[in-house]
Amino acid sequence: MNTIVVATGNKHKVQEIGEILGARGYHVIGAQEMGGMPDVVEDGLTFQDNATKKALETARALNCTVLADDSGLEVLALNGEPGVFSARYAGEGGNDGRNVRKLLDKMKGITDRRARFVCVMVVASPEGVIATSRGEVNGKIAQAPAGDGGFGYDPVFIPDGYDKTFGQLPQEVKNSLSHRANALKALEL
Ligand code: IMP
Repeated sequence: MNTIVVATGNKHKVQEIGEILGARGYHVIGAQEMGGMPDVVEDGLTFQDNATKKALETARALNCTVLADDSGLEVLALNGEPGVFSARYAGEGGNDGRNVRKLLDKMKGITDRRARFVCVMVVASPEGVIATSRGEVNGKIAQAPAGDGGFGYDPVFIPDGYDKTFGQLPQEVKNSLSHRANALKALEL
């Protein structure tokens, strides 16, 4: 069985990628299991920049081929915010709960609640980038958090075609239509 190392310290990402690629016959492990994730400064202005940086620096630190995922939420009425700042929207040292609260505060009184999750995947070896892909899922921001599944903004994101948030929907449903699933579908492994 082929093993894929994911360049992230985020256990939720490792789990989701593991479930999606597991169904395609891959064994997925996080960088932690390979000796640890290097401290990568995510100062890029795009998901592509940050995913490339994470992939290359981790591949070189661990001396193996890795898969990096850079992802986030873009809200149309907020001109694409929080975007690449999704993980630290409420400030460095913030957390999912505070990020969600900040987003809902900013959305007060806004009726256009359209949003999308974006994910850019980069596969790299210590020598350079091997492959890149991008996935998206469209939806809208709920009025209040609901459900405790998933992570990040899942409790306030309602994907198109559903009336429940990713936090409420079964993980299999999220894994079948998420930005991460779509990026992995587009990636030729
Ligand atoms: P990254 O680790 O720098 O790629 O930051 C990703 C951030 O985007 C996470 O910390 C979440 O806030 C948000 N995010 C990305 N993917 C998801 C998802 O599938 N559900 C909920 N939030 C997500």
